[in-house]
Amino acid sequence: MTEQLRSLGVEPGGVLLVHTSFRAVAPVEGGPRGLIEALIAAVGPDGTVVMPGWGRGDGPFDSVRTPVSPSLGVVPATFKAYPGVVRSGHPHAFLAFGPRAEFVVDDPLPLPPHRLESPVGRVYEADGQILLLGVNHDADTTVHLAELEGGAPYRVPKRCVVLREGRPVTVEYGENDHCCERFVLVDEWVRAAGAQREGPVGSAQARLVPSRAVMEAVVPRVRAEPLLFLHGPEARCAECDAARASVRSPA
Ligand SMILES: [Zn+2]
Repeated sequence: MTEQLRSLGVEPGGVLLVHTSFRAVAPVEGGPRGLIEALIAAVGPDGTVVMPGWGRGDGPFDSVRTPVSPSLGVVPATFKAYPGVVRSGHPHAFLAFGPRAEFVVDDPLPLPPHRLESPVGRVYEADGQILLLGVNHDADTTVHLAELEGGAPYRVPKRCVVLREGRPVTVEYGENDHCCERFVLVDEWVRAAGAQREGPVGSAQARLVPSRAVMEAVVPRVRAEPLLFLHGPEARCAECDAARASVRSPA
């Protein structure tokens, strides 16, 4: 599997942000831990592996005790317990292993969660690669960073609980959130730009794309059409409708 990752184009010494569906990749020798070890071997000793690692919505976030959200699947949960992995100290946490791990996860609570001063922003800053294992760009958190940089105007009210001096404090904020289904548009854009490599990793179809290529594809398109990732009203998508309603119509 390390060979497959290398021939796909995973850069030794690079920063690799991984989104996975383990069910799509399996069977893997050694299970989820075997996959993690293949990823670490693919980037080599000078490389860094990053995964989403946020928790569930309720209760104050504790980087050690708060479990990884079940919606992220078994690989991030296993990665959290892997020796040497570090996790952000806030509810929008990512997990990282390798020499640039602290650089990726060290920022304070980023609001909105996927801004430049956030783990996905740091992967972008480090000129990292994004690996989508058995998932498409609707699971690609970097697209949230890119839509924000492109000026997407919607902000859905959210809250999270953090510990400040040992006390739980509720923080309210607006997030550029929606159903994310239309993020799959990015697949064609980066493919057309010749920026995405595709091939098998285990049983999964894998996509590998530079973080910068996602930004280059998305930012100008969102600038030109700020609501392009939202379903239209006819789709009756509650999440996209809520995002659209958060934008003040011009007077
Ligand atoms: Zn939608």
